[in-house]
Amino acid sequence: MSKKTELEFQSEIKQLLHILIFSLYKDREIFLRELISNSVDALNKVQFELLQNRVEQDKELELKIDIKIDKDKNMLVIEDTGIGMTRKELIDNIGTVAHSGTMEFLKKASKKMKDGEKLDIIGKFGVGFYSVFMVAKEVKIITKSYKSNSSGYLWHSEGNEKYTIEKWDKQKRGTRIEIYLKDDAKEFLSEDKIKFIIDKHSKFVPFPIYLNGKKIEKAKPIWSQPKSSLKEEDYKDFYKYISGYDTEPLSYIHISSDAPYQFHALLYFPSSSIEFLNLLKKESGVDLYSRKVLIQKGSTDIIPEYLNFLKGIVDSEDIPLNVSRESIQNNLVVNKIKTHIVKKVIEHLNKLKEKDFEKYLKIWNNFERKFKEGVISDYTNKDKLSELLLFKSMNNREKMIDLKSYVENMKPDQKEIYYLFGENVNNIIKNPALEIFEKKGFDVLFLLDPIDEFVLDNLREYKGKKFKMAESADIKLDDKEKDSEKEDASDFIKYLKELYKDRVEDVRVSERLIKSPCAIVNPDNTPSVGVEKIMKMMNKDFEFTKKIFEINPKNSLIKSMIKLFEKDKNSEKLKELSLQLLDNQLLRAGLLKEVDESVERIYKIMEESLK
Ligand code: ADP
Repeated sequence: MSKKTELEFQSEIKQLLHILIFSLYKDREIFLRELISNSVDALNKVQFELLQNRVEQDKELELKIDIKIDKDKNMLVIEDTGIGMTRKELIDNIGTVAHSGTMEFLKKASKKMKDGEKLDIIGKFGVGFYSVFMVAKEVKIITKSYKSNSSGYLWHSEGNEKYTIEKWDKQKRGTRIEIYLKDDAKEFLSEDKIKFIIDKHSKFVPFPIYLNGKKIEKAKPIWSQPKSSLKEEDYKDFYKYISGYDTEPLSYIHISSDAPYQFHALLYFPSSSIEFLNLLKKESGVDLYSRKVLIQKGSTDIIPEYLNFLKGIVDSEDIPLNVSRESIQNNLVVNKIKTHIVKKVIEHLNKLKEKDFEKYLKIWNNFERKFKEGVISDYTNKDKLSELLLFKSMNNREKMIDLKSYVENMKPDQKEIYYLFGENVNNIIKNPALEIFEKKGFDVLFLLDPIDEFVLDNLREYKGKKFKMAESADIKLDDKEKDSEKEDASDFIKYLKELYKDRVEDVRVSERLIKSPCAIVNPDNTPSVGVEKIMKMMNKDFEFTKKIFEINPKNSLIKSMIKLFEKDKNSEKLKELSLQLLDNQLLRAGLLKEVDESVERIYKIMEESLK
């Protein structure tokens, strides 16, 4: 036999091993879950290869996991008949940290170790194979790949800096992990304990598990069972199994259909978006099965991208078992099922919003961006998806409302749905554009997320009511007096136009301001300041469109300025104040370019006022 090679672990793994060996854990038992889960992956993969007729050896081997306890040797063995590993795979897969999640764990763990706290976060991360070193003083992996002409290998490590690999005689395909237990980990030599752990973490494993030769009773896959036979607990347990988290899902949906296509789907809404991010790293999303055989893990074809935060499975007898990954995408049945699922998920969310708003709000808070992505990307369902949107508004600053409730509360003479963009509620409510809406009693949606405007732009209307930016809405006070004042101000307006030159598109008397002296208004059919800011972020050379400047002749400041104008058209003071008037509004909107000039002018005005 050939020589034994000594290799060194990647430095992150050394660090990881150090933490795993030298700290105290609450959940050491999860090492078994991690190893079984690796075996399940390996079995799923070989099952798939078998279906594609790409396996030449050991074709008849039962797909299973064997666990053996050897009390004399203080040894626990976990063996599978999965794909196994080649020498290169052993080095690449076991010798390096692939997951960003593991790095995250390392950061958190080393911080906690310094703080002297007991480490309780390992269960949340599941550091995979290495968690075995919480209970092992020595580990051997004996493995043989399913690929033709592969030979067996022995990998050996005592949890220090190095490991060895040598050729090893292994007859059949698969992986055998021999764990030599630490003195304080003898509890894992108990059959009852092992059974208990399997029942707790691995009860839905889709392959038989044998313990010392006897088959362990396990739960049947729950998605294919009739809903009436399942309890709330079953659904929650299954979520824990597939997510690896000890939390409950926010909600779930179980769909079974016989015609025109047969399929089962069980989909969960994770309880937090953090979970969703971690799940992603675990190749999560929705797993696609055909007749209970996994054919695509974390399938991107059975659900649209904007629903990829869902965790679960879809199983259909109508999808052929031997489809290649490439052809799943173009498979007619897959596409029909996808359409069906999307419809059901949206319906489920809309119902939840009506029945249990609190719960819906939690889902919304986690995944609102995903829903919005849906409105923009899913043309067929955008109307239904628009029902899911929630907003704060001028009349609802604390709670969130949907478009339906906005429309129901519209005034009889109100024709459009108004919205205003801002960074937060406090900033938005100071916008003078709101004044007229307050007066008329028309509610205004507050768009606090930069993407919101794109979403509404995309929708254009809701139930026949057009979306309209409050700043450019053609909306007027219907009181008579203002007409006369308009004439009074016309010379002053001319004066301002001259003064502002090309800094604004136009200057006019406002028909909407009630208290504020002035406002800048968006010309019709131009993007709002919020959208333009995003454009500017993407392209430095982007120029903001010119705004319209409106003044309110009923405001006392403007009144005094007009008086001054009528007395002395060439007043230096009037010029300064007028320039500052525009600067103030531009400043407020974040559009002021001439900041230094403006500050200098304010100093001058301050000095004047003290004279
Ligand atoms: P993860 O399973 O999260 O990828 P692990 O550290 O547990 O991380 O495993 C690393 C890799 O080693 C796996 O992705 C897989 O490629 C390989 N591996 C682990 N256990 C087995 C096994 N029983 N059979 C085949 N390959 C395995």
